[in-house]
Amino acid sequence: MLTQKKKKGVLTIISGFSGAGKGTLVKALLKKYPDVYSLSISATTREPRAGEQDGKEYFFKTKEQFTQMISNRELIEYACYVDNYYGTPKEFVKSKLDSGKDVILEIEVQGALKVKAEYPDTLLLFVATPDVDTLLERLRGRGSETEESIQKRVRTAYREANYIPEYDFLVINDEIDECVENIHQIITRYHCKPHLLKEFIYDFKQQLNEQLKGEI
Ligand code: 5GP
Repeated sequence: MLTQKKKKGVLTIISGFSGAGKGTLVKALLKKYPDVYSLSISATTREPRAGEQDGKEYFFKTKEQFTQMISNRELIEYACYVDNYYGTPKEFVKSKLDSGKDVILEIEVQGALKVKAEYPDTLLLFVATPDVDTLLERLRGRGSETEESIQKRVRTAYREANYIPEYDFLVINDEIDECVENIHQIITRYHCKPHLLKEFIYDFKQQLNEQLKGEI
Protein backbone atom coordinates (compact mmCIF):
# COMPACT_ATOMS: atom_id res chain seq x y z
CA MET A 1 0.00 0.00 0.00
CA LEU A 2 1.15 3.55 -0.69
CA THR A 3 2.01 5.34 2.53
CA GLN A 4 2.98 8.97 2.73
CA LYS A 5 6.44 9.25 4.35
CA LYS A 6 6.80 11.29 7.53
CA LYS A 7 6.01 14.85 6.55
CA LYS A 8 8.89 17.33 6.72
CA GLY A 9 8.13 20.94 7.59
CA VAL A 10 8.38 23.83 5.16
CA LEU A 11 10.87 26.58 5.90
CA THR A 12 9.00 29.86 5.40
CA ILE A 13 10.63 33.26 5.48
CA ILE A 14 8.53 36.31 6.19
CA SER A 15 10.28 39.55 5.26
CA GLY A 16 8.85 42.99 4.78
CA PHE A 17 9.33 46.67 5.35
CA SER A 18 10.09 47.61 8.93
CA GLY A 19 6.71 48.68 10.30
CA ALA A 20 4.69 46.46 7.94
CA GLY A 21 3.44 44.45 10.91
CA LYS A 22 5.42 41.21 10.37
CA GLY A 23 5.86 40.64 14.10
CA THR A 24 2.14 41.03 14.82
CA LEU A 25 1.23 38.78 11.89
CA VAL A 26 3.64 36.05 12.93
CA LYS A 27 2.42 36.16 16.56
CA ALA A 28 -1.19 35.86 15.38
CA LEU A 29 -0.31 32.99 13.01
CA LEU A 30 1.36 31.04 15.80
CA LYS A 31 -1.50 31.70 18.18
CA LYS A 32 -4.08 30.50 15.65
CA TYR A 33 -2.14 27.41 14.52
CA PRO A 34 0.17 26.44 17.42
CA ASP A 35 0.49 22.81 16.29
CA VAL A 36 1.49 23.71 12.75
CA TYR A 37 4.12 26.43 13.14
CA SER A 38 7.30 27.09 15.11
CA LEU A 39 8.98 30.46 15.18
CA SER A 40 12.75 30.67 15.00
CA ILE A 41 14.17 33.15 17.51
CA SER A 42 17.05 35.14 16.07
CA ALA A 43 20.20 36.39 17.72
CA THR A 44 20.86 40.12 17.49
CA THR A 45 23.31 42.76 18.67
CA ARG A 46 20.62 45.45 18.88
CA GLU A 47 19.42 46.74 22.24
CA PRO A 48 16.12 45.28 23.55
CA ARG A 49 13.08 47.54 23.08
CA ALA A 50 10.79 48.21 26.04
CA GLY A 51 9.06 44.97 27.01
CA GLU A 52 11.34 42.69 24.96
CA GLN A 53 12.84 39.73 26.81
CA ASP A 54 15.99 37.75 26.10
CA GLY A 55 15.02 34.40 24.57
CA LYS A 56 11.52 35.55 23.66
CA GLU A 57 11.72 38.16 20.89
CA TYR A 58 15.47 37.69 20.36
CA PHE A 59 18.59 36.29 21.94
CA PHE A 60 20.35 39.58 22.72
CA LYS A 61 24.11 39.27 22.19
CA THR A 62 27.18 41.46 22.37
CA LYS A 63 29.19 41.94 19.17
CA GLU A 64 31.82 39.53 20.54
CA GLN A 65 29.24 36.82 21.32
CA PHE A 66 27.69 37.25 17.88
CA THR A 67 31.08 36.97 16.16
CA GLN A 68 31.73 33.78 18.15
CA MET A 69 28.43 32.30 16.91
CA ILE A 70 29.52 33.06 13.34
CA SER A 71 32.89 31.36 13.76
CA ASN A 72 31.26 28.34 15.46
CA ARG A 73 28.98 28.05 12.39
CA GLU A 74 25.93 28.21 14.65
CA LEU A 75 23.96 30.43 12.25
CA ILE A 76 22.14 29.53 9.02
CA GLU A 77 22.57 33.12 7.88
CA TYR A 78 23.27 36.54 9.30
CA ALA A 79 23.06 40.11 8.06
CA CYS A 80 23.71 43.66 9.14
CA TYR A 81 20.55 45.77 9.26
CA VAL A 82 20.44 49.43 10.33
CA ASP A 83 23.81 49.17 12.16
CA ASN A 84 23.09 45.89 14.00
CA TYR A 85 23.71 42.20 13.34
CA TYR A 86 20.88 39.69 13.15
CA GLY A 87 21.23 35.92 12.58
CA THR A 88 19.26 32.66 12.58
CA PRO A 89 20.45 29.84 14.89
CA LYS A 90 20.77 26.60 12.88
CA GLU A 91 20.02 23.80 15.35
CA PHE A 92 16.48 24.84 16.30
CA VAL A 93 15.36 25.24 12.68
CA LYS A 94 16.73 21.86 11.65
CA SER A 95 15.17 19.91 14.53
CA LYS A 96 11.73 21.53 14.10
CA LEU A 97 11.67 20.91 10.34
CA ASP A 98 12.64 17.27 10.92
CA SER A 99 9.80 16.90 13.43
CA GLY A 100 7.32 18.05 10.77
CA LYS A 101 6.70 21.60 11.95
CA ASP A 102 6.62 24.48 9.49
CA VAL A 103 9.29 26.88 10.68
CA ILE A 104 8.83 30.62 10.30
CA LEU A 105 11.83 32.94 10.02
CA GLU A 106 11.03 36.61 10.29
CA ILE A 107 14.15 38.02 8.66
CA GLU A 108 15.22 40.81 6.34
CA VAL A 109 15.93 40.60 2.61
CA GLN A 110 19.69 39.90 2.49
CA GLY A 111 19.36 36.96 4.88
CA ALA A 112 16.24 35.67 3.10
CA LEU A 113 17.99 35.53 -0.26
CA LYS A 114 21.02 33.80 1.26
CA VAL A 115 18.78 31.10 2.75
CA LYS A 116 16.89 30.66 -0.54
CA ALA A 117 20.19 30.26 -2.43
CA GLU A 118 21.32 27.56 -0.01
CA TYR A 119 17.92 25.90 0.55
CA PRO A 120 15.88 26.41 -2.64
CA ASP A 121 12.77 24.72 -1.16
CA THR A 122 12.34 27.71 1.16
CA LEU A 123 9.13 29.69 0.72
CA LEU A 124 9.69 33.46 0.61
CA LEU A 125 6.84 35.82 1.59
CA PHE A 126 7.15 39.59 1.54
CA VAL A 127 4.79 41.74 3.63
CA ALA A 128 3.95 45.34 2.73
CA THR A 129 1.44 47.87 4.00
CA PRO A 130 -1.24 49.11 1.55
CA ASP A 131 0.71 52.43 1.23
CA VAL A 132 3.65 54.41 2.63
CA ASP A 133 1.50 56.60 4.92
CA THR A 134 0.33 53.47 6.75
CA LEU A 135 3.96 52.33 7.05
CA LEU A 136 5.03 55.65 8.60
CA GLU A 137 2.03 55.68 10.91
CA ARG A 138 2.93 52.22 12.21
CA LEU A 139 6.62 53.10 12.65
CA ARG A 140 5.79 56.29 14.57
CA GLY A 141 3.08 54.45 16.52
CA ARG A 142 5.73 52.17 18.04
CA GLY A 143 7.04 55.15 19.96
CA SER A 144 10.42 53.42 20.24
CA GLU A 145 12.13 54.76 17.12
CA THR A 146 13.82 58.15 16.84
CA GLU A 147 13.04 60.23 13.72
CA GLU A 148 16.57 59.42 12.53
CA SER A 149 15.99 55.68 12.91
CA ILE A 150 12.65 56.01 11.07
CA GLN A 151 14.40 57.77 8.18
CA LYS A 152 17.00 54.97 8.07
CA ARG A 153 14.22 52.37 7.96
CA VAL A 154 12.48 54.26 5.13
CA ARG A 155 15.73 54.38 3.14
CA THR A 156 16.20 50.67 3.77
CA ALA A 157 12.60 50.03 2.62
CA TYR A 158 13.35 51.84 -0.65
CA ARG A 159 16.31 49.50 -1.29
CA GLU A 160 14.35 46.41 -0.17
CA ALA A 161 11.54 47.13 -2.64
CA ASN A 162 13.96 46.18 -5.45
CA TYR A 163 14.08 42.60 -4.16
CA ILE A 164 10.34 41.95 -3.88
CA PRO A 165 10.22 40.24 -7.32
CA GLU A 166 12.63 37.58 -5.99
CA TYR A 167 10.01 36.50 -3.43
CA ASP A 168 7.42 33.79 -4.06
CA PHE A 169 4.51 35.90 -2.75
CA LEU A 170 3.79 39.53 -1.87
CA VAL A 171 1.19 39.87 0.90
CA ILE A 172 -0.50 43.18 1.75
CA ASN A 173 -1.12 43.58 5.46
CA ASP A 174 -4.28 45.67 5.53
CA GLU A 175 -6.56 43.72 7.84
CA ILE A 176 -4.60 41.49 10.23
CA ASP A 177 -6.89 38.42 10.50
CA GLU A 178 -7.40 38.30 6.76
CA CYS A 179 -3.65 38.57 6.18
CA VAL A 180 -2.88 35.80 8.69
CA GLU A 181 -5.33 33.48 6.96
CA ASN A 182 -3.90 34.37 3.57
CA ILE A 183 -0.39 33.46 4.77
CA HIS A 184 -1.64 30.18 6.27
CA GLN A 185 -3.34 29.24 2.99
CA ILE A 186 -0.21 30.01 0.97
CA ILE A 187 1.98 27.82 3.22
CA THR A 188 -0.60 25.00 3.25
CA ARG A 189 -0.74 24.95 -0.54
CA TYR A 190 3.04 25.14 -0.82
CA HIS A 191 3.17 21.66 0.78
CA CYS A 192 1.59 20.33 -2.45
CA LYS A 193 4.45 21.54 -4.65
CA PRO A 194 5.83 18.46 -6.45
CA HIS A 195 9.45 19.41 -5.73
CA LEU A 196 8.68 18.96 -2.01
CA LEU A 197 7.08 15.57 -2.65
CA LYS A 198 9.93 13.83 -4.46
CA GLU A 199 9.83 10.81 -2.14
CA PHE A 200 6.11 10.35 -2.68
CA ILE A 201 6.53 10.48 -6.46
CA TYR A 202 9.45 8.05 -6.31
CA ASP A 203 7.47 5.53 -4.20
CA PHE A 204 4.46 5.85 -6.46
CA LYS A 205 6.57 5.08 -9.52
CA GLN A 206 8.18 2.10 -7.78
CA GLN A 207 4.76 0.64 -7.07
CA LEU A 208 3.54 1.29 -10.60
CA ASN A 209 6.63 -0.49 -11.83
CA GLU A 210 5.85 -3.52 -9.63
CA GLN A 211 2.35 -3.65 -11.07
CA LEU A 212 3.67 -3.54 -14.62
CA LYS A 213 6.25 -6.32 -14.18
CA GLY A 214 3.61 -8.98 -14.79
CA GLU A 215 2.88 -7.45 -18.16
CA ILE A 216 6.44 -7.19 -19.44
P1 5GP B 1 13.91 44.80 14.38
O1 5GP B 1 15.11 45.57 14.85
O2 5GP B 1 12.83 45.73 13.89
O3 5GP B 1 13.41 43.79 15.38
O4 5GP B 1 14.36 43.96 13.11
C1 5GP B 1 14.99 44.58 12.03
C2 5GP B 1 15.03 43.67 10.85
O5 5GP B 1 15.86 42.53 11.10
C3 5GP B 1 13.66 43.12 10.46
O6 5GP B 1 13.49 43.27 9.07
C4 5GP B 1 13.74 41.66 10.86
O7 5GP B 1 12.91 40.86 10.04
C5 5GP B 1 15.21 41.38 10.61
N1 5GP B 1 15.70 40.19 11.30
C6 5GP B 1 15.34 39.69 12.51
N2 5GP B 1 16.00 38.57 12.78
C7 5GP B 1 16.81 38.31 11.72
C8 5GP B 1 17.76 37.26 11.41
O8 5GP B 1 17.97 36.31 12.14
N3 5GP B 1 18.41 37.37 10.23
C9 5GP B 1 18.21 38.40 9.37
N4 5GP B 1 18.88 38.38 8.22
N5 5GP B 1 17.33 39.39 9.62
C10 5GP B 1 16.64 39.35 10.79
